Amino acid sequence: MTTAHIRPEILAAIKNTIVPEDKTFGRALFPVIAAATYRNGTWSDLEIKLDTEHAVSAGSVVVQYGQSIFEGMKAYRVTQDIPQIFRPYDHAKRFQRSADRLCMPHVPEELFVSAVKKIADLYTDLIPREHNSALYVRPALFGDDYSLEITPSAGYSFTVHVAPTVPFSVNMKSVLIERENTRAAVGGTGGVKAAGNYAASFLSVQRARSVGCATSIWLDPIEHRYVEELSLMNFFIVKDEKLYTPELTKSFLPGLTRQSILQMANHLGIETVEQPIDINELVADLKKGREIEAFSSGTAAVISPIKSFKEIDGQEFVVGTEPGPVTSKLRAALVDIQEGRAEDLFGWMQNV
Ligand code: PMP
Repeated sequence: MTTAHIRPEILAAIKNTIVPEDKTFGRALFPVIAAATYRNGTWSDLEIKLDTEHAVSAGSVVVQYGQSIFEGMKAYRVTQDIPQIFRPYDHAKRFQRSADRLCMPHVPEELFVSAVKKIADLYTDLIPREHNSALYVRPALFGDDYSLEITPSAGYSFTVHVAPTVPFSVNMKSVLIERENTRAAVGGTGGVKAAGNYAASFLSVQRARSVGCATSIWLDPIEHRYVEELSLMNFFIVKDEKLYTPELTKSFLPGLTRQSILQMANHLGIETVEQPIDINELVADLKKGREIEAFSSGTAAVISPIKSFKEIDGQEFVVGTEPGPVTSKLRAALVDIQEGRAEDLFGWMQNV
């Protein structure tokens, strides 16, 4: 890629970026971003700049009314020298669906993908090469008008940050069954990546952590009975050699990892079933000692096996202490594609 149009101090900032010791997800952001602005109905050219140069007022629509969406994706460089990004065009499409829900303009697919590729390319040297490692890429879109008018912003910022992450682990995790709060309402924004969904989930996740769980598992907003998703991931179980995942409703996020797992499972000859999963039935099965695997899926940890489900009163229903065979098989198959060890059968990986 040519860097001719990038200011020397920006190139120096990239070169001098230090990867911190503490790579806890999201804790450290790299200083240089890709950004574009939307003014008078038109997108600017993409700019590579310092995050600190992108000013947003405390009186802006995003701060005052939360008009903001984001995406999360990864750039890999485990076996190839050229970074590869997992399904960037599909992330671009989901970003547009999120934008529609929050009355925001579309970021054109080409602008989205070129921003993601460009920033990953500029930070190539900091994309880790170890197994289970990648650079996290975070596109965001927010209303930046300086205005308290309760209407969609006229102007927008599109930004792409990158952040280091710890190599993701396959440690078994417990999850809290969230029976009190719901993450999404019928007709709400649960089906898209609206920033406000995440703020609304913090309380429950805090409560989950306080009882030794990694996160909470959300139930449907009508009957509080059918599993929808986890706070950052979709949900799967394996029972009687079949792979089950909740069928898509409009109140939880259609994960790209979820979709990839379904495709991969079909390819591997594993029967897949998309249907509501009743948490009470699942708990009853676990109490009876039925053999079940459970895992969550998402960009961050790809596939994360679930050790147990907990109730807030301390009851625990154990699934297992080791990742199950189907969980492990699917995870290996997907990670092998992402890390370039297996043929990219589905055309998911894109060079920067
Ligand atoms: N649900 C929620 C609420 C999420 O934030 C995510 C992460 N984007 C997912 C599911 C998984 O989606 P994906 O596989 O596309 O990362």
